[in-house]
Amino acid sequence: MATYQEIRQMWSDVGMDLDKHDGFLNTFPGIYKRIIQPQEGRPDKIDYFSKVVTSVHGRRPYELFKHKQNGGKVFGTYCVYVPDEILLALNGVSTGLCGGDQFWVPGGEKFLPANTCPLIKSSMGSRMDRTSPFCQVADMFIGEATCDGKKKAWEILAQDVPMHIMEVPQMKREKDIQRFAEEIWQLVEIAQNLTGNQLNYDTLAQSIITINNKRRALKRLNRTRQASPVPISGKDALMVIQVAFYDDPIRFAEMTNILCDELEERIIKKEGPFAADIPRILVTGTPMALPNWKLHHLVETSGAVVVCEESCTGTRYFEELVEEDSTDLNGQIMALAERYMKTNCACFTPNQARTEDIIRYAKEYKADGIIDYTLQFCGLYSTESYLLRSALKNEAIPFLHIETDYSEQDSEQLRTRIEAFIEMLRD
Ligand code: SF4
Ligand code: SF4
Repeated sequence: MATYQEIRQMWSDVGMDLDKHDGFLNTFPGIYKRIIQPQEGRPDKIDYFSKVVTSVHGRRPYELFKHKQNGGKVFGTYCVYVPDEILLALNGVSTGLCGGDQFWVPGGEKFLPANTCPLIKSSMGSRMDRTSPFCQVADMFIGEATCDGKKKAWEILAQDVPMHIMEVPQMKREKDIQRFAEEIWQLVEIAQNLTGNQLNYDTLAQSIITINNKRRALKRLNRTRQASPVPISGKDALMVIQVAFYDDPIRFAEMTNILCDELEERIIKKEGPFAADIPRILVTGTPMALPNWKLHHLVETSGAVVVCEESCTGTRYFEELVEEDSTDLNGQIMALAERYMKTNCACFTPNQARTEDIIRYAKEYKADGIIDYTLQFCGLYSTESYLLRSALKNEAIPFLHIETDYSEQDSEQLRTRIEAFIEMLRD
């Protein structure tokens, strides 16, 4: 384990602005201590994930730094459409770069219009302010053509870092899946050039299994949340899912399965942090990058529990697996394209399958109500909310749409609305 001095030296070596970063170090632990730490009835095995989060700019970036010193490459990604399997098969490490902290938003606003979604502004600020070791350690950023805000932000970021953009089709016809397979082949070429390694069937087969195992562990975790009483809070479950974007995939799957062993024992003993009759909430919508626990905190301190997230920091990240029985490299790439194109992001049209997923999750997780969460200025998800609302009305599933940012300014206003919604669910 690296000492604090070694980690601080690493921050300096990768070009971080240490003075500005001290500002981050002054605020981030406070968020964890205020929101995550005081929870009661937490499982013992959540400890590993808490440690990853409380040392988020230390432990894992130091591993990435060492990986580079040993000749490996690091890829930073912003979207669940980027196939980690390819990067891993080429001895690359992929790490999430999405910003979830208000600390970075002002830095992003120096480059982007204020009416850009906070996730994009925070991601931009973390790089431009030189205050994220993940951004500094990455050799190449992989962006993707999904929403307009991201597409334009990549053009600005590309002036600062080596960047490759994947085109993500906006429809899901057979020819679109073929096109996405071509995009994956292009990523192979780019990543081969950077790493100096050649993709082959065996290493890709192994990396498909590794990433599938990570997803299997997350699916297992989420299945435990179908129980009543739920054996883990929504805040802790979300924190585990957020860690999945940073941690070593093999270690992550192992630690998540250990946590699941404990959660399954809790289910048998009917133990959990909340009473069995507490209202159960399915959260849908935009991703919640670390440390965005704002909505979960409001819900779980207002008398309800979050039992599932239909989002990219939720089911959209791990629900689908890649077929493991392809017999050649072409088949593997096609299997990857098919799997990734099953993800139902609002950037697709039509996107009826997402509504169907949400109705299915509401039943599987025995949700009493749905809170549809949209980050401010995200036109895609706020527009899709209209269609979702009418579909859920037909199913008689209570629905609340909220739009918010990373600041705390609207927290009390949101709390009033969330409390009223939960009160209605109780009635
Ligand atoms: S919401 Fe869409 S654009 Fe954002 S991470 Fe998910 S798939 Fe990518
Ligand atoms: S939340 Fe919406 S606007 Fe923000 S990055 Fe995701 S899709 Fe784009």
